[in-house]
Amino acid sequence: MTRIAHAPWLSAPSTRAVLAALEAAQPGCARFVGGCVRNALIGAPVDDIDIATQLTPDAVVSAVERAGLAAHPTGIEHGTITVVADRQPFEVTTLRRDVATDGRRATVAFTTDWAEDSARRDFRMNALYADPDGVVHDPTGGGLDDARAGRVVFIGDAETRIREDYLRILRFFRFGAWYGKGPFDPVGLAACAALRDGLASLSAERVWKETKKLLTAEDPRAALAAMAQAGVLAAVLPEADGRARFDQMVEIETSRFLPHHPLQRLAALLPLDPDVARGVARRLKLANDERDRLTAALGAEPRIVSYLSLRDVRRALYVLGRETFVDRVKRAWAAAPAGKADAQWRALIALAEGWTRPVFPLDGARVMAAGTPPGPLVGAVMREVEAWWIDADFIDDELSLAERLKAVVQGMI
Ligand code: ATP
Ligand code: MG
Repeated sequence: MTRIAHAPWLSAPSTRAVLAALEAAQPGCARFVGGCVRNALIGAPVDDIDIATQLTPDAVVSAVERAGLAAHPTGIEHGTITVVADRQPFEVTTLRRDVATDGRRATVAFTTDWAEDSARRDFRMNALYADPDGVVHDPTGGGLDDARAGRVVFIGDAETRIREDYLRILRFFRFGAWYGKGPFDPVGLAACAALRDGLASLSAERVWKETKKLLTAEDPRAALAAMAQAGVLAAVLPEADGRARFDQMVEIETSRFLPHHPLQRLAALLPLDPDVARGVARRLKLANDERDRLTAALGAEPRIVSYLSLRDVRRALYVLGRETFVDRVKRAWAAAPAGKADAQWRALIALAEGWTRPVFPLDGARVMAAGTPPGPLVGAVMREVEAWWIDADFIDDELSLAERLKAVVQGMI
Protein backbone atom coordinates (compact mmCIF):
# COMPACT_ATOMS: atom_id res chain seq x y z
CA MET A 1 0.00 0.00 0.00
CA THR A 2 1.29 3.42 -0.90
CA ARG A 3 0.32 6.39 1.14
CA ILE A 4 1.03 10.08 0.71
CA ALA A 5 2.93 11.22 3.76
CA HIS A 6 4.02 14.64 4.93
CA ALA A 7 1.95 16.60 2.42
CA PRO A 8 0.94 19.85 4.10
CA TRP A 9 -1.96 20.35 1.69
CA LEU A 10 -3.42 16.98 2.65
CA SER A 11 -3.76 17.88 6.31
CA ALA A 12 -4.57 21.58 5.77
CA PRO A 13 -7.83 22.63 7.47
CA SER A 14 -9.25 23.91 4.17
CA THR A 15 -8.66 20.53 2.47
CA ARG A 16 -10.14 18.70 5.43
CA ALA A 17 -13.21 20.93 5.35
CA VAL A 18 -13.93 20.19 1.68
CA LEU A 19 -13.39 16.45 2.11
CA ALA A 20 -15.52 16.34 5.25
CA ALA A 21 -18.35 18.10 3.44
CA LEU A 22 -18.30 15.59 0.58
CA GLU A 23 -17.86 12.59 2.88
CA ALA A 24 -20.84 13.70 4.94
CA ALA A 25 -23.02 13.33 1.85
CA GLN A 26 -21.63 9.91 1.01
CA PRO A 27 -18.67 8.22 2.69
CA GLY A 28 -15.91 7.18 0.27
CA CYS A 29 -17.24 9.34 -2.55
CA ALA A 30 -14.23 11.62 -3.01
CA ARG A 31 -10.56 11.17 -3.88
CA PHE A 32 -7.73 13.49 -4.76
CA VAL A 33 -6.65 13.06 -8.35
CA GLY A 34 -4.10 14.06 -10.95
CA GLY A 35 -1.29 16.53 -10.38
CA CYS A 36 -1.57 16.82 -6.60
CA VAL A 37 -1.25 13.07 -6.06
CA ARG A 38 1.48 12.66 -8.68
CA ASN A 39 3.52 15.55 -7.31
CA ALA A 40 3.09 14.57 -3.67
CA LEU A 41 4.50 11.15 -4.52
CA ILE A 42 7.59 12.50 -6.24
CA GLY A 43 8.16 15.40 -3.86
CA ALA A 44 7.30 18.11 -6.39
CA PRO A 45 5.37 21.22 -5.32
CA VAL A 46 1.57 21.04 -5.44
CA ASP A 47 -0.22 24.14 -6.73
CA ASP A 48 -3.81 23.18 -7.23
CA ILE A 49 -5.88 20.43 -5.76
CA ASP A 50 -8.26 18.45 -7.91
CA ILE A 51 -10.83 16.18 -6.35
CA ALA A 52 -12.77 13.48 -8.19
CA THR A 53 -16.13 12.40 -6.81
CA GLN A 54 -18.95 9.98 -7.34
CA LEU A 55 -21.44 12.70 -6.38
CA THR A 56 -23.23 14.48 -9.21
CA PRO A 57 -22.45 18.21 -9.58
CA ASP A 58 -25.80 19.10 -7.96
CA ALA A 59 -25.03 16.85 -5.02
CA VAL A 60 -21.59 18.45 -4.70
CA VAL A 61 -23.14 21.91 -4.53
CA SER A 62 -25.63 20.96 -1.86
CA ALA A 63 -23.06 19.00 0.15
CA VAL A 64 -20.56 21.84 0.34
CA GLU A 65 -23.18 24.54 0.86
CA ARG A 66 -24.59 22.54 3.73
CA ALA A 67 -21.13 22.74 5.26
CA GLY A 68 -21.03 26.51 4.76
CA LEU A 69 -18.54 26.46 1.87
CA ALA A 70 -18.90 28.43 -1.36
CA ALA A 71 -19.56 26.54 -4.61
CA HIS A 72 -18.99 28.04 -8.08
CA PRO A 73 -20.13 26.15 -11.15
CA THR A 74 -16.94 26.99 -13.09
CA GLY A 75 -17.04 24.05 -15.49
CA ILE A 76 -20.49 22.70 -14.88
CA GLU A 77 -20.83 21.27 -18.42
CA HIS A 78 -17.83 19.02 -17.65
CA GLY A 79 -19.09 18.35 -14.13
CA THR A 80 -16.65 20.67 -12.35
CA ILE A 81 -17.56 22.74 -9.32
CA THR A 82 -14.98 25.01 -7.75
CA VAL A 83 -15.33 24.82 -4.00
CA VAL A 84 -13.70 27.56 -1.98
CA ALA A 85 -12.57 26.96 1.59
CA ASP A 86 -10.43 29.49 3.43
CA ARG A 87 -10.15 31.39 0.15
CA GLN A 88 -8.46 28.39 -1.45
CA PRO A 89 -10.14 26.89 -4.54
CA PHE A 90 -10.63 23.16 -5.00
CA GLU A 91 -11.81 21.76 -8.32
CA VAL A 92 -14.33 19.05 -7.59
CA THR A 93 -15.25 17.02 -10.67
CA THR A 94 -17.79 14.25 -10.99
CA LEU A 95 -16.34 10.97 -12.33
CA ARG A 96 -16.77 10.85 -16.09
CA ARG A 97 -16.45 8.62 -19.08
CA ASP A 98 -16.18 9.74 -22.65
CA VAL A 99 -19.24 9.19 -24.79
CA ALA A 100 -17.87 10.78 -27.96
CA THR A 101 -14.65 12.51 -28.94
CA ASP A 102 -13.73 14.44 -32.07
CA GLY A 103 -10.03 15.12 -31.57
CA ARG A 104 -10.73 18.43 -29.85
CA ARG A 105 -13.36 17.97 -27.21
CA ALA A 106 -15.26 15.18 -25.56
CA THR A 107 -18.89 14.59 -24.76
CA VAL A 108 -18.94 13.06 -21.31
CA ALA A 109 -21.35 11.13 -19.15
CA PHE A 110 -21.15 10.93 -15.39
CA THR A 111 -20.27 7.65 -13.75
CA THR A 112 -19.54 6.30 -10.28
CA ASP A 113 -16.81 3.96 -11.53
CA TRP A 114 -13.26 5.03 -10.65
CA ALA A 115 -11.72 2.84 -13.34
CA GLU A 116 -13.88 4.40 -16.04
CA ASP A 117 -12.83 7.84 -14.88
CA SER A 118 -9.16 6.88 -14.99
CA ALA A 119 -9.43 5.39 -18.48
CA ARG A 120 -10.30 8.74 -20.04
CA ARG A 121 -7.29 10.51 -18.54
CA ASP A 122 -4.18 10.99 -20.65
CA PHE A 123 -1.16 9.43 -18.95
CA ARG A 124 -0.82 6.75 -16.32
CA MET A 125 1.09 9.14 -14.00
CA ASN A 126 -1.90 11.52 -14.25
CA ALA A 127 -4.45 8.88 -13.29
CA LEU A 128 -3.43 8.46 -9.67
CA TYR A 129 -6.02 8.90 -6.94
CA ALA A 130 -5.70 9.26 -3.20
CA ASP A 131 -8.24 8.64 -0.44
CA PRO A 132 -8.87 11.42 2.06
CA ASP A 133 -6.36 9.69 4.35
CA GLY A 134 -3.70 9.63 1.62
CA VAL A 135 -3.90 6.00 0.49
CA VAL A 136 -3.02 5.92 -3.20
CA HIS A 137 -5.04 4.12 -5.87
CA ASP A 138 -3.46 3.35 -9.22
CA PRO A 139 -6.25 2.01 -11.43
CA THR A 140 -4.12 1.76 -14.59
CA GLY A 141 -1.51 -0.24 -12.69
CA GLY A 142 1.40 1.77 -14.09
CA GLY A 143 0.97 5.24 -12.71
CA LEU A 144 2.99 4.87 -9.53
CA ASP A 145 5.97 3.31 -11.26
CA ASP A 146 5.81 5.88 -14.07
CA ALA A 147 5.70 8.81 -11.68
CA ARG A 148 8.70 7.53 -9.77
CA ALA A 149 10.67 6.60 -12.89
CA GLY A 150 9.78 9.83 -14.70
CA ARG A 151 8.04 8.06 -17.58
CA VAL A 152 5.15 9.59 -19.49
CA VAL A 153 3.07 6.74 -20.86
CA PHE A 154 -0.36 7.00 -22.47
CA ILE A 155 -3.23 5.09 -20.93
CA GLY A 156 -4.24 2.46 -23.45
CA ASP A 157 -3.34 2.71 -27.13
CA ALA A 158 -1.37 5.90 -27.74
CA GLU A 159 -2.67 6.58 -31.24
CA THR A 160 -6.27 6.01 -30.22
CA ARG A 161 -5.86 8.33 -27.26
CA ILE A 162 -4.29 11.05 -29.41
CA ARG A 163 -7.06 10.82 -32.00
CA GLU A 164 -9.55 11.51 -29.19
CA ASP A 165 -7.76 14.76 -28.36
CA TYR A 166 -4.73 15.97 -30.30
CA LEU A 167 -3.73 18.25 -27.45
CA ARG A 168 -2.37 15.12 -25.79
CA ILE A 169 0.58 15.33 -28.21
CA LEU A 170 1.67 18.57 -26.58
CA ARG A 171 0.80 17.29 -23.12
CA PHE A 172 3.08 14.30 -23.74
CA PHE A 173 6.01 16.66 -24.19
CA ARG A 174 4.86 19.05 -21.48
CA PHE A 175 4.75 16.35 -18.80
CA GLY A 176 7.98 14.95 -20.20
CA ALA A 177 9.58 18.37 -19.75
CA TRP A 178 8.37 18.65 -16.17
CA TYR A 179 8.60 15.11 -14.83
CA GLY A 180 10.44 13.04 -17.43
CA LYS A 181 13.73 11.31 -16.71
CA GLY A 182 15.67 9.47 -19.39
CA PRO A 183 14.45 8.93 -22.92
CA PHE A 184 10.85 9.54 -23.96
CA ASP A 185 8.57 6.53 -24.22
CA PRO A 186 9.23 5.35 -27.80
CA VAL A 187 5.65 4.20 -28.38
CA GLY A 188 4.20 7.54 -27.31
CA LEU A 189 6.82 9.42 -29.27
CA ALA A 190 6.10 7.47 -32.44
CA ALA A 191 2.36 8.05 -32.05
CA CYS A 192 2.92 11.80 -31.62
CA ALA A 193 5.10 11.88 -34.71
CA ALA A 194 2.58 9.94 -36.77
CA LEU A 195 -0.39 12.09 -35.77
CA ARG A 196 1.21 15.54 -35.50
CA ASP A 197 -0.89 16.94 -38.36
CA GLY A 198 -3.90 16.69 -36.06
CA LEU A 199 -2.51 19.57 -34.00
CA ALA A 200 -3.74 21.92 -36.70
CA SER A 201 -7.33 21.18 -35.71
CA LEU A 202 -6.89 22.49 -32.15
CA SER A 203 -7.84 25.94 -30.96
CA ALA A 204 -4.92 28.35 -30.73
CA GLU A 205 -5.76 29.04 -27.08
CA ARG A 206 -5.31 25.41 -26.04
CA VAL A 207 -2.09 25.07 -28.03
CA TRP A 208 -0.56 28.22 -26.56
CA LYS A 209 -1.58 27.38 -23.00
CA GLU A 210 0.07 23.98 -23.25
CA THR A 211 3.15 25.32 -25.08
CA LYS A 212 3.60 27.99 -22.46
CA LYS A 213 3.51 25.40 -19.67
CA LEU A 214 6.06 23.33 -21.56
CA LEU A 215 8.37 26.34 -21.90
CA THR A 216 7.96 27.06 -18.18
CA ALA A 217 9.55 23.78 -17.08
CA GLU A 218 12.91 24.18 -15.37
CA ASP A 219 14.77 22.38 -18.14
CA PRO A 220 12.71 21.67 -21.27
CA ARG A 221 15.72 20.97 -23.53
CA ALA A 222 15.19 17.23 -23.85
CA ALA A 223 11.48 17.75 -24.51
CA LEU A 224 12.20 20.29 -27.24
CA ALA A 225 14.72 17.95 -28.81
CA ALA A 226 12.16 15.14 -28.80
CA MET A 227 9.50 17.44 -30.22
CA ALA A 228 11.82 18.51 -33.02
CA GLN A 229 12.72 14.93 -33.75
CA ALA A 230 9.04 13.96 -33.95
CA GLY A 231 8.24 16.88 -36.25
CA VAL A 232 5.93 18.29 -33.59
CA LEU A 233 7.93 21.48 -33.04
CA ALA A 234 7.69 22.32 -36.73
CA ALA A 235 3.95 21.62 -36.63
CA VAL A 236 3.25 24.07 -33.80
CA LEU A 237 6.07 26.53 -34.39
CA PRO A 238 7.34 26.40 -37.97
CA GLU A 239 9.16 29.70 -37.34
CA ALA A 240 11.44 28.12 -34.72
CA ASP A 241 14.97 28.06 -36.11
CA GLY A 242 16.82 28.46 -32.85
CA ARG A 243 17.08 25.17 -30.99
CA ALA A 244 20.76 25.89 -30.33
CA ARG A 245 19.91 29.32 -28.91
CA PHE A 246 17.16 27.77 -26.84
CA ASP A 247 19.53 25.18 -25.40
CA GLN A 248 22.10 27.84 -24.64
CA MET A 249 19.53 30.03 -22.90
CA VAL A 250 18.43 27.16 -20.66
CA GLU A 251 22.08 26.31 -19.99
CA ILE A 252 22.74 29.90 -18.94
CA GLU A 253 19.68 29.93 -16.69
CA THR A 254 20.37 26.64 -14.98
CA SER A 255 24.11 27.13 -14.53
CA ARG A 256 23.72 30.69 -13.22
CA PHE A 257 20.45 30.31 -11.35
CA LEU A 258 18.81 33.01 -13.41
CA PRO A 259 15.03 33.30 -13.47
CA HIS A 260 13.40 32.03 -16.65
CA HIS A 261 10.30 33.04 -18.54
CA PRO A 262 8.40 31.22 -21.31
CA LEU A 263 8.40 34.29 -23.55
CA GLN A 264 12.18 34.66 -23.25
CA ARG A 265 12.54 31.04 -24.25
CA LEU A 266 10.11 31.47 -27.13
CA ALA A 267 12.16 34.50 -28.23
CA ALA A 268 15.27 32.31 -28.22
CA LEU A 269 13.59 29.87 -30.55
CA LEU A 270 12.55 32.57 -33.03
CA PRO A 271 14.63 34.64 -35.44
CA LEU A 272 15.49 38.22 -34.49
CA ASP A 273 12.54 39.69 -36.35
CA PRO A 274 9.59 41.49 -34.73
CA ASP A 275 7.39 40.66 -37.72
CA VAL A 276 7.89 36.96 -37.14
CA ALA A 277 7.05 37.53 -33.46
CA ARG A 278 3.83 39.29 -34.42
CA GLY A 279 2.93 36.46 -36.80
CA VAL A 280 3.43 33.84 -34.09
CA ALA A 281 1.48 35.94 -31.60
CA ARG A 282 -1.42 36.29 -34.02
CA ARG A 283 -1.55 32.62 -34.94
CA LEU A 284 -1.28 31.32 -31.37
CA LYS A 285 -3.52 34.12 -30.05
CA LEU A 286 -1.13 35.37 -27.40
CA ALA A 287 -2.56 37.94 -25.01
CA ASN A 288 -1.72 41.52 -26.01
CA ASP A 289 0.85 41.96 -23.26
CA GLU A 290 2.49 38.68 -24.25
CA ARG A 291 2.57 39.73 -27.90
CA ASP A 292 4.12 43.08 -26.98
CA ARG A 293 6.76 41.51 -24.78
CA LEU A 294 7.72 38.92 -27.41
CA THR A 295 7.85 41.50 -30.17
CA ALA A 296 9.96 43.86 -28.07
CA ALA A 297 12.32 41.03 -27.11
CA LEU A 298 13.03 40.45 -30.81
CA GLY A 299 13.63 44.07 -31.77
CA ALA A 300 17.04 44.89 -33.23
CA GLU A 301 17.72 48.46 -32.06
CA PRO A 302 19.57 49.43 -29.96
CA ARG A 303 21.90 46.52 -30.68
CA ILE A 304 22.79 44.55 -27.58
CA VAL A 305 26.36 43.27 -27.32
CA SER A 306 28.27 41.96 -24.33
CA TYR A 307 30.64 44.94 -24.43
CA LEU A 308 28.08 47.73 -24.06
CA SER A 309 29.52 50.67 -22.17
CA LEU A 310 27.83 51.77 -18.96
CA ARG A 311 26.50 54.73 -20.85
CA ASP A 312 25.06 52.47 -23.58
CA VAL A 313 23.47 50.36 -20.88
CA ARG A 314 21.81 53.34 -19.21
CA ARG A 315 20.51 54.56 -22.54
CA ALA A 316 19.21 51.14 -23.58
CA LEU A 317 17.53 50.66 -20.21
CA TYR A 318 15.85 54.02 -20.45
CA VAL A 319 14.67 53.51 -24.02
CA LEU A 320 13.61 49.88 -23.67
CA GLY A 321 12.62 49.57 -20.02
CA ARG A 322 14.08 46.95 -17.72
CA GLU A 323 12.01 43.97 -18.86
CA THR A 324 12.69 44.35 -22.57
CA PHE A 325 16.35 45.11 -21.89
CA VAL A 326 16.79 41.90 -19.90
CA ASP A 327 14.81 39.90 -22.46
CA ARG A 328 17.10 41.18 -25.20
CA VAL A 329 20.28 40.62 -23.23
CA LYS A 330 19.24 37.04 -22.58
CA ARG A 331 18.34 36.53 -26.26
CA ALA A 332 21.67 37.99 -27.37
CA TRP A 333 23.63 36.00 -24.78
CA ALA A 334 21.88 32.83 -25.95
CA ALA A 335 22.90 33.62 -29.53
CA ALA A 336 26.51 34.51 -28.70
CA PRO A 337 29.48 32.11 -28.81
CA ALA A 338 29.01 29.74 -25.87
CA GLY A 339 31.10 30.45 -22.81
CA LYS A 340 32.54 33.69 -24.19
CA ALA A 341 32.01 36.90 -22.25
CA ASP A 342 29.69 35.22 -19.73
CA ALA A 343 30.78 37.60 -16.97
CA GLN A 344 29.99 40.62 -19.14
CA TRP A 345 26.56 39.31 -20.11
CA ARG A 346 25.80 38.53 -16.49
CA ALA A 347 26.91 42.02 -15.51
CA LEU A 348 24.45 43.56 -17.97
CA ILE A 349 21.62 41.74 -16.21
CA ALA A 350 22.95 42.82 -12.82
CA LEU A 351 23.04 46.43 -13.99
CA ALA A 352 19.42 46.15 -15.06
CA GLU A 353 18.47 44.71 -11.69
CA GLY A 354 20.06 47.62 -9.86
CA TRP A 355 18.81 50.32 -12.19
CA THR A 356 16.34 53.00 -11.23
CA ARG A 357 14.74 54.95 -14.01
CA PRO A 358 16.03 58.56 -14.12
CA VAL A 359 13.24 61.09 -14.11
CA PHE A 360 13.25 63.61 -16.94
CA PRO A 361 13.28 66.94 -15.13
CA LEU A 362 11.09 68.97 -17.51
CA ASP A 363 7.32 69.29 -17.46
CA GLY A 364 4.80 70.98 -19.72
CA ALA A 365 4.43 74.04 -17.51
CA ARG A 366 8.11 74.73 -17.70
CA VAL A 367 8.21 74.23 -21.48
CA MET A 368 5.39 76.78 -21.83
CA ALA A 369 7.04 79.18 -19.41
CA ALA A 370 10.04 79.08 -21.76
CA GLY A 371 7.85 80.43 -24.55
CA THR A 372 6.15 77.43 -26.14
CA PRO A 373 2.46 78.02 -26.94
CA PRO A 374 0.06 75.46 -25.45
CA GLY A 375 -0.68 72.59 -27.83
CA PRO A 376 1.23 69.87 -29.66
CA LEU A 377 4.47 71.89 -29.72
CA VAL A 378 4.83 71.38 -25.98
CA GLY A 379 5.28 67.65 -26.47
CA ALA A 380 7.57 68.18 -29.45
CA VAL A 381 9.87 70.49 -27.49
CA MET A 382 9.87 68.07 -24.55
CA ARG A 383 10.88 65.14 -26.73
CA GLU A 384 13.61 67.19 -28.37
CA VAL A 385 15.11 68.20 -25.03
CA GLU A 386 14.69 64.65 -23.73
CA ALA A 387 16.68 63.29 -26.68
CA TRP A 388 19.49 65.67 -25.79
CA TRP A 389 19.23 64.72 -22.12
CA ILE A 390 19.53 61.00 -22.95
CA ASP A 391 22.52 61.75 -25.20
CA ALA A 392 24.06 63.70 -22.34
CA ASP A 393 23.77 60.54 -20.19
CA PHE A 394 20.82 61.89 -18.18
CA ILE A 395 22.78 64.91 -17.10
CA ASP A 396 21.64 66.32 -13.78
CA ASP A 397 22.59 69.94 -14.34
CA GLU A 398 19.97 72.63 -14.10
CA LEU A 399 21.96 75.24 -16.04
CA SER A 400 22.66 73.04 -19.08
CA LEU A 401 19.03 71.97 -19.10
CA ALA A 402 17.73 75.55 -19.03
CA GLU A 403 20.14 76.52 -21.76
CA ARG A 404 19.14 73.61 -23.95
CA LEU A 405 15.44 74.29 -23.43
CA LYS A 406 15.95 77.88 -24.47
CA ALA A 407 17.87 76.86 -27.58
CA VAL A 408 15.26 74.30 -28.59
CA VAL A 409 12.43 76.78 -28.13
CA GLN A 410 14.27 79.34 -30.21
CA GLY A 411 14.90 76.77 -32.91
CA MET A 412 11.39 75.35 -33.05
CA ILE A 413 9.02 78.18 -32.27
P1 ATP B 1 -0.51 20.60 -13.40
O1 ATP B 1 -1.81 21.22 -12.98
O2 ATP B 1 0.51 20.48 -12.35
O3 ATP B 1 0.01 21.17 -14.64
P2 ATP B 1 -2.16 18.29 -13.79
O4 ATP B 1 -1.86 16.83 -13.90
O5 ATP B 1 -3.07 18.72 -12.70
O6 ATP B 1 -0.79 19.08 -13.77
P3 ATP B 1 -4.02 19.46 -15.62
O7 ATP B 1 -3.81 19.94 -17.01
O8 ATP B 1 -4.41 20.43 -14.55
O9 ATP B 1 -2.71 18.69 -15.21
O10 ATP B 1 -5.13 18.31 -15.70
C1 ATP B 1 -5.64 17.65 -14.55
C2 ATP B 1 -5.86 16.17 -14.84
O11 ATP B 1 -6.91 16.04 -15.81
C3 ATP B 1 -4.64 15.48 -15.47
O12 ATP B 1 -3.79 14.98 -14.48
C4 ATP B 1 -5.29 14.41 -16.33
O13 ATP B 1 -5.62 13.30 -15.52
C5 ATP B 1 -6.59 15.04 -16.77
N1 ATP B 1 -6.52 15.69 -18.10
C6 ATP B 1 -6.37 17.01 -18.34
N2 ATP B 1 -6.36 17.29 -19.65
C7 ATP B 1 -6.54 16.13 -20.28
C8 ATP B 1 -6.64 15.73 -21.64
N3 ATP B 1 -6.54 16.61 -22.64
N4 ATP B 1 -6.85 14.42 -21.91
C9 ATP B 1 -6.96 13.53 -20.91
N5 ATP B 1 -6.86 13.80 -19.62
C10 ATP B 1 -6.65 15.09 -19.29
MG1 MG C 1 -3.89 20.71 -12.42
